[in-house]
Amino acid sequence: MSTGPAAVQEAPDGAPWTDSHCHLQDFDDVASILERAIERRVGRVVCVGTDLDTSRRAVEIASTGPGTRGASPQLWATVGLHPHAAKNGLEPLKALLGDVVPKPGRPRGTPGDVVGVGECGLDYHYDHSPRHVQREVFAAQVALARELDLALVVHTREAWDDTFAVLAAEGMPERTIIHCFTGGPGEARRCLDAGAYLSFSGIVTFKGAPEVREAAAICPLGRMLIETDSPFLAPVPHRGSANEPAYVTLVGVAVAEAKGITPAEIAVATSANAAAAFGLVPLDSPG
Ligand SMILES: [Zn+2]
Repeated sequence: MSTGPAAVQEAPDGAPWTDSHCHLQDFDDVASILERAIERRVGRVVCVGTDLDTSRRAVEIASTGPGTRGASPQLWATVGLHPHAAKNGLEPLKALLGDVVPKPGRPRGTPGDVVGVGECGLDYHYDHSPRHVQREVFAAQVALARELDLALVVHTREAWDDTFAVLAAEGMPERTIIHCFTGGPGEARRCLDAGAYLSFSGIVTFKGAPEVREAAAICPLGRMLIETDSPFLAPVPHRGSANEPAYVTLVGVAVAEAKGITPAEIAVATSANAAAAFGLVPLDSPG
């Protein structure tokens, strides 16, 4: 691996990074992707579902790991229905969640577990599902996260007001993550006041996104996560090519710059926050 500035390689000082949101299901060679992640000290990865198939795959990948080849980060899964797929209905996913939660005889948040509902939410940019269906299916998943005591992973695009309305009406779960945060300081404050975590993606490295850096600057260190959303949204200098969990370090370096602290501090804080937000076993637990 020769990608990324030298600073990234040196930054973590033994503190493993956590990629709080990626889609390993979209990669052909998951084992290589995970090997590269571990080389860059990405020790923990949450694999996110967006419909029945990808949720099933997320559960499978998290529970079996990459197989016998090489080292792997610790893995967890989420199960959810993306607003794009809201029209497919939630029932099959409920069955999937029923199968995997809880696993008796071991602590919740053990690697391999399902730790969240989502990603779910509202996307009024693409409107792939009718808006009233999006709201209904989002509300049902908010309720499900509360009922099962799981984290809620929220996708929101051009729909801030309705997102907050649904969360307020259903009662926002204690552990709610606004994934791939793309707002500015105003939206950040709104999310933080409501009690949510903000998860910053590679967008924080984009030249044209100063408002996201401003949001990172005002977000308290204890309330931020970082993620790749890979294979989408590759950070600078990889824009235009496939993203992967190893690049969460680049997101961390950009957030560190925005906050005027070291990347190692970001690695430590965001890994601890991810553990708290998703209810993962403590960082020193063997996986
Ligand atoms: Zn995603």
